[in-house]
Amino acid sequence: MATKTDNDKRVTTGLPKTDENNPRFHFDIYAILEGSQELYLGHEVQVNVNMVETIELQTKDGNSIKKCYISPTKRRGIERRCLIWSPVKSGELLGDKLGCGIPKTCTKTDCPICMTYGGLDPGKSTLIGRLTHGGGVAIQELDPVEKQRAMHPSKLVNKNEETPIPFKREYNQPGIFYPVYNHVLSVTEKEFSAVAYAFLDALPRMGAGNPKGVSIAEENQIPLLVLDRYLVPGGKRPIISPSETNPETAIQEFLRLANDQNENIKETHFKRWIGNEALTKLQEYSCQFVDTYLQE
Ligand SMILES: [Zn+2]
Repeated sequence: MATKTDNDKRVTTGLPKTDENNPRFHFDIYAILEGSQELYLGHEVQVNVNMVETIELQTKDGNSIKKCYISPTKRRGIERRCLIWSPVKSGELLGDKLGCGIPKTCTKTDCPICMTYGGLDPGKSTLIGRLTHGGGVAIQELDPVEKQRAMHPSKLVNKNEETPIPFKREYNQPGIFYPVYNHVLSVTEKEFSAVAYAFLDALPRMGAGNPKGVSIAEENQIPLLVLDRYLVPGGKRPIISPSETNPETAIQEFLRLANDQNENIKETHFKRWIGNEALTKLQEYSCQFVDTYLQE
């Protein structure tokens, strides 16, 4: 193995070394989101019908069911855009300030977006993301609803005087629960602050077109939210089986798993925040992101 010199502090991951004051941890966010109105998350267009993304699965007892879906890749894209469009004190947007956008990411190791979400500059450099997204399969087994929509405003100005063709669009029904999960691998708290900001800021912007938005579902006025910071995975993971179709059962499962943790593991190795405490902690990390990158 090659010996490292003072000039060669980089390891094979391409990531700079952190110091003792900024230790790395793993972080997980678990949440149950609720569609606060209809949602459109486009999948494919059939003859004049915009379809939403659905998923078909076989339940534990062998039934085939179809469910709506907020795909992890779509959620990731919305979160990344939230960071790119975040307002900097100087009057710029963060993406413009950093020269980091979609699809042209900057891949710099001091970019708070690429550091966690990853970046690719084709043929030049790659920064592997350390944030992964999971979940998104709806709880309720509710088929999308198809609705008639007028032409898109940009096409209403019809130079050729053709008859405008209205189209139909499918929507995820309101009130559907979507368990979602964000996992971050070996990041400092400063790096995680961008993930916390993006997770919270993306909620009202979830969906394509109008309307948009999801909320964190609540049970007895407590958000169904868990935040883990750990070196040792010391708790059961509040992940809901895609087979589950009853929202009440899903909530009880989420709470049971969230409260099942190993009390013997010291706080430096495993720390879990649940409900309002988890929300407060995510908001604190979000403030850290704003102070570090947007207000400097
Ligand atoms: Zn970047």
